[in-house]
Amino acid sequence: MKPVIALVGRPNVGKSTLFNRLTRSRDALVADLPGLTRDRHYGEGRIGERPFLVIDTGGFEPVAKEGIMFEMALQTRQAVAEADVVVFIVDGRQGMTPHDKTITDYLRKTGRKVMLVVNKSEGMKYTSVTADFYELGMGDPYVISAAHGDGVNDLVVEALDFAFASRPDAEQMGEHVDHGVKIAIVGRPNVGKSTLINTLVGEQRVIAFDMPGTTRDSIEVPFEREGKQYTLIDTAGIRRRGKVFEAIEKFSVVKTMQSISDANVVVLLLDAQQDISEQDAHIAGFILESGRALVVAVNKWDGLQSDDRDEVKIDLDRKLDFLSFAKTHFISALKGTGISQLMKSVDAAYAAATANLSTPRLTRALQEAIEKQEPKRKGSTRPKMRYAHQGGQNPPIIVIHGNALEAVSEPYKRYLERHFRDTFNLVGTPVRIELKSGK
Ligand code: GDP
Ligand code: GDP
Repeated sequence: MKPVIALVGRPNVGKSTLFNRLTRSRDALVADLPGLTRDRHYGEGRIGERPFLVIDTGGFEPVAKEGIMFEMALQTRQAVAEADVVVFIVDGRQGMTPHDKTITDYLRKTGRKVMLVVNKSEGMKYTSVTADFYELGMGDPYVISAAHGDGVNDLVVEALDFAFASRPDAEQMGEHVDHGVKIAIVGRPNVGKSTLINTLVGEQRVIAFDMPGTTRDSIEVPFEREGKQYTLIDTAGIRRRGKVFEAIEKFSVVKTMQSISDANVVVLLLDAQQDISEQDAHIAGFILESGRALVVAVNKWDGLQSDDRDEVKIDLDRKLDFLSFAKTHFISALKGTGISQLMKSVDAAYAAATANLSTPRLTRALQEAIEKQEPKRKGSTRPKMRYAHQGGQNPPIIVIHGNALEAVSEPYKRYLERHFRDTFNLVGTPVRIELKSGK
């Protein structure tokens, strides 16, 4: 599971500046797809080969008792509870404020690992920019400039080292057994996740693995359907209670993101009896960023009139157009309809995501694409694409080699993606195109 870093601090200390810096490289992967809305508080980052999740805890008002500030404080509490490391940011230009002390007191009570970070330190001496903050009793502060990037890399490396060291080790987690395709069923509260899980695995003899961990234990449920093995990954705190699964805690973005990144195939569950919401679109955005294979399931299809059904389909096309690479099924988790077809699409999406694409076949497909439509010149340079090979699976990464490839436009990259998708029938998985210019 990816480590989670939460950014905490009073307004204007530079949390969102740091958040943007940490998540920017991931953003570039999915460019700006029409209709894709991002949750600006939750993102993925990567330092070298090490991925992590980062949460920007919007506003922090530990004293608020009700209203919007109280709601935000609740979310901050949840984020802090779910984080491996809390990065507590203070403002080196402004110096200490009483609010910083209040936050310190709160963080101390949570018992989380906290790294005190003085931001806006560019051009300032370590001793002068940090002097104020020793009073907080958190030892030597880290200093960074979120705006310029100074110290940010070192900070994250230390945070990740800490997160890694504090994880229960692999032996404690029990032996890893391979139980087929790993599926995460995700969606906002009340769309029918527990109901679907019970329909899928309820009749089976289920062995639930509760893994040790502090606040973020995870559960994997192996099950069998039509002779095939699958494993369900915990989504948002669904637990077995007696004979059935039910959601035992409120919706957790962090758990949703983690189960997405642990899965091979994600089933995005939507509620046909509700409009597609911002939260649905945010979850869809995470799935896209993660590169996991995807099947969309519109649940509660039972009891909908045909007018309403048409409206749902229009809403889907309008709001989640960027998921058109995935199959959509209209199901009733409660009545058990549409489930077999849904699982067929899960299998197909997994097969596409893990397909082996040989260099000769990829290169032939590349040549075909170029013959149909050449990349445009950029200024006086025309990109020259020579051959393609597979650079990864789940999602398939297609690496194209050639010269002057920085001149290849985004629309042309999308055109190539579509061409490879059609040629190799890669339904249900994102396809990533990487360009490598040689000398
Ligand atoms: P947040 O409210 O904690 O999310 O803070 P923001 O990221 O919105 O930053 C508040 C202000 O501080 C903005 O005007 C930023 O441009 C500025 N800021 C953020 N990081 C730095 C930094 O490293 N140095 C300087 N000088 N200003 C910064
Ligand atoms: P979760 O919060 O996503 O786990 O949602 P639940 O599985 O707890 O379902 C929320 C509510 O929707 C419950 O009252 C379910 O009975 C109901 N529900 C789930 N699936 C269906 C369905 O296919 N059709 C209808 N009509 N109701 C459903």
